[in-house]
Amino acid sequence: MNNPNTCELCQLVNHRNIYTQFHFENDDFIIVNCNTCNVPMVVLKHHRSSFHYEEKKQIGKILISIFGSQGYIDWKQRKIPAHAHCHLRMIPFPNSEAELLSKYV
Ligand SMILES: [Zn+2]
Ligand SMILES: [Zn+2]
Repeated sequence: MNNPNTCELCQLVNHRNIYTQFHFENDDFIIVNCNTCNVPMVVLKHHRSSFHYEEKKQIGKILISIFGSQGYIDWKQRKIPAHAHCHLRMIPFPNSEAELLSKYV
């Protein structure tokens, strides 16, 4: 399961299966509202399980430029662990891997 052919996030990246609000796109990321959580979700444009350190810094700066510096980046990948993504949440879930977004200012 979760190979690039069936991966829900690859479908989003490659076929633009976006059913929610679209926010941003560049060469590395797409930001749309998560259709489960209804908060902004950053999706890497490659099928790999985690972001590189430099990518995390870029994500922080992009999120701040679009949404302001309130809230948390939740790095925890629950439903689709094989494809790097993260959520912007105002209140992090229990057991999340949340970092204050303002850390990336
Ligand atoms: Zn994928
Ligand atoms: Zn979600």
